[in-house]
Amino acid sequence: MLAVLLGPPGSGKGTQAQSIVKKLGLTHLSTGDLLRKAVSDQTKLGLDAKGYMDSGELVPDEVVIGLIQERLSEIKDVLFDGFPRNIEQAVALDKMLEGIGLSLDQVINLLASDEEVLQRLSARNREDDTIETVENRIRVYKDQTAPLVDYYQAQGKLRTVDGMGTVEEVFDRICREMES
Ligand code: AMP
Repeated sequence: MLAVLLGPPGSGKGTQAQSIVKKLGLTHLSTGDLLRKAVSDQTKLGLDAKGYMDSGELVPDEVVIGLIQERLSEIKDVLFDGFPRNIEQAVALDKMLEGIGLSLDQVINLLASDEEVLQRLSARNREDDTIETVENRIRVYKDQTAPLVDYYQAQGKLRTVDGMGTVEEVFDRICREMES
């Protein structure tokens, strides 16, 4: 199983990703987690990425694509979380997978209203969650990441899930979609 979890910042994606990988036995591949680790380890890549992350911009494509490429050998049963973030990354992922004879099975699109997203994000307390950063992350999502919905719809892989409700309710919906 190769799946992507899509959804705006604050849609509950990270929480749901943890439950999904546990239930379905998938490897959780989160570029956000990999980048935060690089920042805390103070690697060159982390130092280069930090400014983009602090302002809510996307880290350059070649950096995140490189992070995924390094993990290609682990890619068998994977939930991609936070990657791809734009069409270029989606095309690169399709090519990388094709190169090892694989392709994505499904893309879960978690829906959340702007209001809900803003409310959830302002209640959160991560280092890159200042108001300016949050607003920029939402803008970047709409401009760069939301077009992936049409990209995967055209591939017939998109499954849409209502992200409103309790964590458990949303998780049940995701499981029903992924298992159907
Ligand atoms: P996340 O935890 O997925 O919300 O990611 C936190 C930050 O890391 C984002 O705001 C971006 O700056 C950066 N980031 C994570 N994944 C990507 C990606 N696929 N492409 C570019 N930047 C990313």
